[in-house]
Amino acid sequence: MWTRTLFYQACEGRGGNCIILSSMELPYFKYHPNPISTGSIVPSAEVCPGCGESRGFVYDGIPYGSNELEHICPWCIADGTAHEKFGVEFTDTEGVGGYGRWEKVPTKLIEEVAFRTPGFDSWQQEH
Ligand SMILES: [Zn+2]
Repeated sequence: MWTRTLFYQACEGRGGNCIILSSMELPYFKYHPNPISTGSIVPSAEVCPGCGESRGFVYDGIPYGSNELEHICPWCIADGTAHEKFGVEFTDTEGVGGYGRWEKVPTKLIEEVAFRTPGFDSWQQEH
């Protein structure tokens, strides 16, 4: 699996105390290299329904194909667990091809983006 080490700091409001939230390795998403900065992945203590663990980060949105699947962790997205277990997608597969505007997009690329990459702004969209 693609991984890289990233460091994040979380600041609580009271007194401006900052703590190092995590120094764990987040999965590396080739087509969405920094999902923290886009707000797609957020620090959270919620338990992931895919692996049943609280791993410090969750997907801030509800994937396509589900009405209520929340708090999927980035690891379950990256290794395909979320897609295989729940049959969800994180990007509208039609959109990956530019809704027909682009030349052929390889199926493998579409699958990687839709099934194993956190969506960019799905939380804003109506499903
Ligand atoms: Zn998980």
